[in-house]
Order: sequence, then C-alpha cells, then structure tokens
Amino acid sequence: MNHKILISSCFLGNNVRYNGKAKKLHHHYINTWLAEDRLVVICPEMSGGLSVPRAPAEIQKSGIIMTQTGENVSEAFQRGAQHALEVCLTHHINFALLKESSPSCGSQFIYDGSFSQKKIPGQGVTAALLKDHDIQVFCENDIEKLAMLIENQ
Ligand code: SF4
Repeated sequence: MNHKILISSCFLGNNVRYNGKAKKLHHHYINTWLAEDRLVVICPEMSGGLSVPRAPAEIQKSGIIMTQTGENVSEAFQRGAQHALEVCLTHHINFALLKESSPSCGSQFIYDGSFSQKKIPGQGVTAALLKDHDIQVFCENDIEKLAMLIENQ
C-alpha cells in the first residue's frame, strides 16, 4: 500500500510562512515521495484562516497563542489543527512530516512565548492533535527515520 504522508506546505517551497517565505526542504526523499504521489500538503495556519504575511505567534505558558502584536490567535490555530486532522482521517494518513519549532507544526520544540528566539521542549497545536490521534509526527531532522518506517510498512 502506498502510504500517504502529511507534509508542511513550507517544506515544498510554498511561501506560506508568517514572513511570506518558504522553508524548502531539500532532500532526495522529498523528490521520491513527490514522484510516488505520497505527499498531502497542508499549512494549518493558512487553513485556520490566517493570512500571509502575518504577525509571528508563539504559544504562551497559559496555552494561549498570541501574536507579537498582542492578538489572541488560538482559535485560528485550533481550526487549522482540526483541518489537518480531518485531512489525515480522510486520506488514512498515519505519518506526518512537519516543520520543527512552529507553534502549529513543531513536534519536539517550540519558541518559549517571549519572542526572544528561545526554544523550549514542546509541540505545536497541530502536531499535538495529530499525535493524540496516533498519527506519527516527524520533523525535518527525522526524515530518514520516517523513510525507514515507510519502507518497512
Ligand atoms: Fe509551515 Fe506549518 Fe508554519 Fe504553515 S503552519 S508555514 S506549514 S510551519
């Protein structure tokens, strides 16, 4: 069976990040998975209703997600996470490759909420929701691990 992989849109060179830029992931597995039609692309912040560019946002200690300009964007982040989960359920996706440190997509680290570039262990809203539903989430540093798992399925 050709397992699909949910992937952060910015990894594919799409200019969807808060700063209007991409974070293209250059790796031969990306080319392979594109050719195999495995990749299902999402940007939770855009599907949650946020625009490009947008003010950077970080998860606060309270769990609320605030922009640097003081706007509470928690609902948009949660909508985007819910959409990502629905995409996974629709396509029977068990694996996701998501951008590390994002307040949506980060799976091991996030910024600490102080907008001072400090990272702490934690996960973004989408990554956390997907994990809660037994979807395995990998970041760009773990792409080889994900590839091994898929090859052994
Ligand atoms: Fe990339 Fe995820 Fe941020 Fe969208 S929400 S720009 S996919 S890291």
